[in-house]
Amino acid sequence: MDTTSVIRLSVFISVFFIMAMLEAFLPARKSTLSRKERWVGNLSMVVFGAVVSRLLVPASLVGMSLWASEKGYGLFNILFASNSTLVSAVLVVVGVLLLDVVIYWQHRLFHTIPLLWRIHKMHHADSHVDTTTGLRFHPIEIVISLGVKTAAVVAFGVPVLAIVIFEVALNGFALFNHANIRLPQKWDDRLSTLIITQRLHRIHHSQAKEESNSNFGFSVSWWDKVFNSFKSRAHESDDKLPIGQRDVPPTKDNASMLSLLRQPFSRPAKD
Ligand SMILES: [Zn+2]
Repeated sequence: MDTTSVIRLSVFISVFFIMAMLEAFLPARKSTLSRKERWVGNLSMVVFGAVVSRLLVPASLVGMSLWASEKGYGLFNILFASNSTLVSAVLVVVGVLLLDVVIYWQHRLFHTIPLLWRIHKMHHADSHVDTTTGLRFHPIEIVISLGVKTAAVVAFGVPVLAIVIFEVALNGFALFNHANIRLPQKWDDRLSTLIITQRLHRIHHSQAKEESNSNFGFSVSWWDKVFNSFKSRAHESDDKLPIGQRDVPPTKDNASMLSLLRQPFSRPAKD
């Protein structure tokens, strides 16, 4: 296994373990379904996503970045052909921010375009939000996202280090902000000026459309502020806010692995 994969896997396992422990001892909300009933389906999506994307997109993002820099493709490679350490460092920071804003818009479009919403709705159909929800994405969404990131990496010539930092952070933040925990209000208010906290992200998982069409950010909260989609409070308090999708009730059948894979095809694309 290469170093990048080792870093990604260690951060993933550590954050997952810490969030799962916190959820077990200090849960913010109760779930109708048991852990086992939801976790098998949610966790299996990681495996499906990885296998399908490996089969369809054999080149990794890092591989694409190396290829683009070797060929001199992409904005950064064209503008800064021979760069100093300072320029390289700035390009890494800009590269991370760029990928983050691309993912913000990708997420927003997944909510706006009906065909994409059909696929992303499976993520929102989780009747309860916990750290495994951060892994519950349909394999088609994973593949589309990989395509979008690949296009951004090649078009801008995003450096390898920026990709590694971004991928590790995106994964870690997804586990963090889906966790079924509640930070003390004071911390939450302070932190949410910078990052998407669990409470802010639960607003994004609300059944109310005007609330799920807000807080699209995965990591920092400033894209939502810049692009006018930030919502600091929901219509209900965090412990009572109805979460999930009304037409996908919290039954065992709706949480099974096959049902998650089938959802985009078997249900009408209505809100
Ligand atoms: Zn969403």
